[in-house]
Amino acid sequence: MRENHSQPGSGAGWIEVIVGSMFSGKTEELIKRLRRSQIAKLRVQVFKPRIDNRYDAVHVISHSEQKTPSQVVDNAQELLGMVSDNTRVVGIDEGQFFDLSLIDVCQKLANRGVRVIVAGLDTDWQGQPFEPMPQLMAVAESVLKSNAICVVCGGLASRTQRLNKSTARVQVGANDLYEARCRGCFDPHLAEMNLEVSTSKNLLKKKTVPKKKNKTQPDLQI
Ligand SMILES: [Zn+2]
Repeated sequence: MRENHSQPGSGAGWIEVIVGSMFSGKTEELIKRLRRSQIAKLRVQVFKPRIDNRYDAVHVISHSEQKTPSQVVDNAQELLGMVSDNTRVVGIDEGQFFDLSLIDVCQKLANRGVRVIVAGLDTDWQGQPFEPMPQLMAVAESVLKSNAICVVCGGLASRTQRLNKSTARVQVGANDLYEARCRGCFDPHLAEMNLEVSTSKNLLKKKTVPKKKNKTQPDLQI
């Protein structure tokens, strides 16, 4: 990933987006970039939506237990009002839980010179684009698509598989209800079926696991 340490022309800021399925390391990447900004002595503020009550109310925490203090907001407008004039870098986690006004807020911050870094799911449990992340990807200067490892076949995972029957788009707080899967192993209708949930363990018995082409978890950058 190319790091941006210098301001682009005209004193403008920019927008960076980090997307991928659950367990793809998005929050880890967000925290890494924020830490580097703090080392560079830039004033950093971190926000997350109130809907995300996993692990901790006041920290942004990755699945690998890295964490950074954050401010919890109800919506994007509240976020905008909480950004101090001297803040140079704004980090936003779980961007998919904000409404479409997050796009305008990120644009405003970038236009006034702030580096905005947003992490979030690019697709929902049905494999459909998860607004506002697709729109943010379109207006961002930089987009990182992060992949997890498919728990069924060991390939690169780009989808978030829901394992229970709920059809609600937002279902927070139970990581064991989800797993990362590749396009081929992803089943958007699994949650709707009135059958016993096929866990990855069951599927492993039926499928042969292909050789892993790459043992490290690669980041695909576009
Ligand atoms: Zn797979």
